[in-house]
Parts: sequence; C-alpha cells; structure tokens
Amino acid sequence: MSGLGKGVMTSSIAKLLQLSNQKVSCVKIDPYLNYDAGTMNPVIHGEVFVTEDGGECDMDIGNYERFLNQNISRTHNITTAQVYSSVIEAERKGDYLGACVQIIPHITNEIKERIRKIAKDEQLDILIVECGGTVGDIESLPFLEALRQIRVEDGPQNVIFVHVTLAPSLDVVGEQKTKPTQHSVQELRRIGIQPDFLAVRCTTPLQEKTKEKIALFTNVIIDDVLSCHDVKSIFQIPEILYDQGIVDSIFTKFGKVGLVNASANWDNWNAIVKTMLNHEDQKVKIAMVGKYVTLADSYVSVNHALKHTGAKLGKSVSIDWIDSENLDDIEKLSEYDGILVPGGFGTRGSEGIIKTANYAREKNIPYFGICFGFQLAAVAFGRHVCNLENANSAEIDSKTKFPIIDLLPEQKDVNDMGGSLRLGANEIKIKIDSLAFKIYNSDLISKRHRHRYEFNKDFLDNFEKNGMIFSGQSDGGKRMEILEIPSHKFFLGVQYHPEFSSRPGFPEEAFEAFVSASAQN
Ligand code: GLN
Repeated sequence: MSGLGKGVMTSSIAKLLQLSNQKVSCVKIDPYLNYDAGTMNPVIHGEVFVTEDGGECDMDIGNYERFLNQNISRTHNITTAQVYSSVIEAERKGDYLGACVQIIPHITNEIKERIRKIAKDEQLDILIVECGGTVGDIESLPFLEALRQIRVEDGPQNVIFVHVTLAPSLDVVGEQKTKPTQHSVQELRRIGIQPDFLAVRCTTPLQEKTKEKIALFTNVIIDDVLSCHDVKSIFQIPEILYDQGIVDSIFTKFGKVGLVNASANWDNWNAIVKTMLNHEDQKVKIAMVGKYVTLADSYVSVNHALKHTGAKLGKSVSIDWIDSENLDDIEKLSEYDGILVPGGFGTRGSEGIIKTANYAREKNIPYFGICFGFQLAAVAFGRHVCNLENANSAEIDSKTKFPIIDLLPEQKDVNDMGGSLRLGANEIKIKIDSLAFKIYNSDLISKRHRHRYEFNKDFLDNFEKNGMIFSGQSDGGKRMEILEIPSHKFFLGVQYHPEFSSRPGFPEEAFEAFVSASAQN
C-alpha cells in the first residue's frame, strides 16, 4: 500500500547495487490514469518532482536521484495514460491493421518495450522497477502481468521480484502479525508472480519466529525474508539490507557471483550518511511559509535540501511549517533565523506570502524565495518599496494595474493545463559582483524550472532604482531568474527550483548560502 516505503526500498537496493559496481537506474510505474503527476494535488499525492528533461514526475524519482546521485530521465516514470496513449496512437496510424487491439498483448508489450528500452539505451547492468499501488488493484494488473511476462521471457537468472509487505504489531506485547504478508503474497501468486524477496516493514526488527512463519507460508527462503524495521533516517536502510545479505543473494540469483567485482568502496557513502545522522546542538530555526503545509511530502525535496545543507554545515536545521493562509500573527516570524517560501500556485494563501516577504525585508531576516516565493517577494517589493498600489501577480489578480508578475508570452495561448508549464533545465547567466555569483562561483548555471508566470520587465528599471537587483537572467536577458536586495542581510529569490538538484553530501549552493546566513543571524 502507499506510504509503506516502496520508494525507499527501491532506492536502497539500487544504491547497494551501485556501490557494488553495477550500472543501475530505477523506474517508477504509476498505474493511475493521469499522464503524469503534473496536474495532481501535492497535498494528497506529494510533491511533483521535475527532471532535467522537464518531466513532471512522481516524487519517488527524486528519491532515486538523491540516493544514486544521478539524473533520471522523465521516461523512467511510466503511467497508464502514457502506455495507453501510445497504443491508441499506433492503432490509429494503422500499426496493428487487421488485429483486435487488447490489453494482452498490446498494452503489456508496450510496457515491456518501455522498460527494456531504458535498460538497453542506458546500457544498465541492473534496472530496478518499482510498481506503485497495491497488489490486487485493477489498475496495476496490466503492469504486473507485463513484469510476469518479462520474467518468463528473460528467465529467472535475469529477473527477480521483491515484494514489500507489512507486519504490524497490534498489541502491547508486540507480536508481529504475518497475515497481511501471507495474504498479499497469495494475491501476487494468484496472478503468477512468486516473490524472490520479501521486504517486510515493521516497527521493530522482525523476530526469527515471524520470519520462519512468513517463509513457510510464502514459499520464500528464510534468508530472503528481510526485516525492514523503522529507523531514524532512510539513509540507514541500505546498510540494514546489506547486513541481511541481500546483495550476495541478488548476485547469486543473477548468476553473477565470481563474475563481477562486488566488493565496492563504501567509504564515501558511509561518510555522507554519518553526517546526515549527526545531530549537533547548534540549531538553525527555519520558518517555511507556504500553501501546502499539511502534508510533509508536498515539499519533500525542499526538506531534503535543507537536511543536506545542515549535514554539510554540521548544524541541525529545524523546520516549522507555517500555513500562509492562516498567518494571523506575523510577529511570530521574528523567532526564526531564516524564512523560506517554496513554490505554489493560485490565489489562496498568497497575501500571507506577500506579507511574509515584506516582513523579512523590513526586519532584515534572511529570506529565500523559490519560484512562487521569488514572484511574491517581487510583488511585495513593488507594493511596499516602489509604492505600486495593489501590485500583484496576474495569476492572483488578472486585472491588477501593476502586474509585476505576468504570464510568459508563450503561455498566452495555452489552454491545456497538463505539461504546459515552462519545464526542465535551462541555463541562467549570472552577473559578476552579485550575491548569486558569490553563491555559485560561476557566471553560468543550469537549473530546473516549473512555472507559467515570470517577472514583468516593464518594472525592471523602477525596481533596480529602488534597490532590488536581478542578478540572474535567461534566454538572452529576456527572463529574470534571480532577485536580490544588496542592502539586506540575505534576500534571495530564485525563479527556478534549486531543491531538485540537491543531493546528500552535495547540497545545492543557494540552500547552503541561505542556511549559513540564517545560522549567523
Ligand atoms: N504559480 C507560479 C507560476 O506558475 C509559480 C509556480 C511554482 O511555484 N512552481 O509561475
């Protein structure tokens, strides 16, 4: 079921195999009917993760990128809509002339082709495919069927199944119940898949007798029933799996023993994990003022980026989520070392964000605005410093006299909401002698984007005259990407999403600068 930790399990297994000198990558299958995650509500579904090539993906892709420290293409997030669209398009073109087009074999063939193409094009040793949803769901059936077929066609020496299940402890004595695992394995076997490994989620380590019982009922050998108990940090999971012999067992099943050098160097990874677990007394208190604060997963990459930064700086970053819609007491923000406003869409909560940006400017509190946080910081500056009454973003007030933030020109005739934002990585030129230049130590960076609106250049002179500079620009100076107030302790807004390129051990530079400035505040 969702939330069980399939994404972390997938990333952890991939990490272990990468550390064992294998060229690996991951795929996420999302059996829902949306074409991609772009139109989904982040408070229900979690963050939309943007890839370099402009995919609006499930947040698991972010986990893979962070664990593996490698970019992952949008093709690695396969959904039902993508598969069906391709098949229907091919049918219309006449590719299957004469045939009755069916789930088996046409849909399953399309799924298999997509998976195999990734493994082949990227010359991978091992591809880990995560199938979302719950066994028994109608939606995931064609995908599981395709995976079953791949195993039959490529043989058990090339395909193994890992099933993530739950062993809840219901009473105070803590007896671990095996029934949910027994039943979901039965369900999986009913559709022809016998798992090779069971990754059993539990609160405390799986007891020997629980393992024995699970092994007996599920036909999985006891050594391959893995305890995936709760730990402090997800970065400890690879080691927990490794200690239970998963790598040896995978290599044995794949017939790779003796053929590959699996004794990898763990030092770098362990050193990074150690910093991630370090809890220093030195706390940096950050207020995250945003729209989607009721679900921690809605800004998961921002949270991670702050953690990566804290780990590198030897500080513990504590984050308080503040709902911009219910920001009654603005003075509360004075308790924080720094204020971060992440991305967002729409009118609700926007006035609270504008107030927040203005408060941070007036009180000289380090401010870091990302995307919506960049745009509304400009609106706040327009209203309160440039005296442009009721200035706004056209997204919030389409009739405003002063549209500081306006639609991108190419967006004016766009009607479809899905996949139509400015998406993916673009180059940004940085002005020498700016805070941004100091942060990135370069005059050219490439960052990922996801927006429909941008700073309206009609206001550029007025803003610069009043003390806000635009130190990063793209498309030959057409678009404003970074804003700063040089007279302020630390006031930075970025139109792009730096959080998507932050990795354990390698925090994104702007995050690092923001947390450092906050720590000194
Ligand atoms: N809603 C704004 C836009 O579309 C900002 C988007 C975001 O924060 N990702 O431009």
